[in-house]
Amino acid sequence: MTPVLHAEHVSRVYPGGVRALDGVTLAVEAGELLGIVGPSGSGKSTLLHVLGTLDRPSTGTVSIAGQPVTALGDTALSRLRGRRIGFVFQQFHLADGLTAAANVAAGLLYAGVPRRHRAGLARAALERVGLGHRADHRPHELSGGERQRVAIARAVVHGPDVVLADEPTGALDTATGRAVLDLLMELNAQGTTIAVITHDLALAAALPRRIELRDGHIVGEERR
Ligand code: ADP
Repeated sequence: MTPVLHAEHVSRVYPGGVRALDGVTLAVEAGELLGIVGPSGSGKSTLLHVLGTLDRPSTGTVSIAGQPVTALGDTALSRLRGRRIGFVFQQFHLADGLTAAANVAAGLLYAGVPRRHRAGLARAALERVGLGHRADHRPHELSGGERQRVAIARAVVHGPDVVLADEPTGALDTATGRAVLDLLMELNAQGTTIAVITHDLALAAALPRRIELRDGHIVGEERR
C-alpha cells in the first residue's frame, strides 16, 4: 500500500548550519497512530514540519499519497496540504475573536469545501470531539483541554489523510493531556491516521508504534 506520508533520506539544515534532520526515512501508513519521541532538540518538530510540507527538506524527498511534493510550487503545495493534512499544535493556535465553530470552519477554507457546507461540518466535528455544546464559545471562555479539542476538530473537519500533532499535550496538565491523547486514539480507532510528537514517555508507551529521534536520526522503533 502507498504510504500516506513518505520521507526518504530527508535532511534539513537550518541557516547557520544546524543539521536538524540527517538522512531520515520514514513511512506513515494509512490507519496508523505513530508516536515520535526524543529529547528536546532531536529534530521532532522539524520532522513533523517536513512531513507536513510546512517546511521543505534540504535534501531527500517527501511524498503525500505517493506524490512527491518536491516539484510542486507553493500554491499547489498549499492546496494539497489544505486538503490532505490536519495540524494540531501545542499552543492550540486558535483565533481569539472567533467562536469554536468558526475556528473549526476555518479548517475548511483551503479544503475546497463550499461555504454553505462549512457551518454544518464544523458543528459535526465539534460533536465528534465532545464539544457540541461549546460551539458558540470563544477560546478565552474554554479550558485548555477544550481549546485543544477545538483545534483537533479543526484538524479533522475536512477529513484529511493524516493529522500531524506537535506536542498536543505539552501545554496541558497530566489528566487533561491524557484525555486529549485518548481523543486522538479514539479518532484513530475510527480511521484517522495520526502522527503525534510527545516527550511524555508514559503517553508514548500507549501508542501502537513509536519512533525515537536523536540528533536528527531515527535511533529506535517499537511496535506494540
Ligand atoms: P525538537 O522538536 O525535537 O525539540 P527541533 O526540530 O525543534 O527539535 O530542532 C532540532 C534542531 O534544529 C535543534 O538544534 C534546534 O535548535 C534547531 N532548529 C530548529 N528550528 C530552527 C530554526 N528555525 N533555525 C535554526 N535552527 C533551528
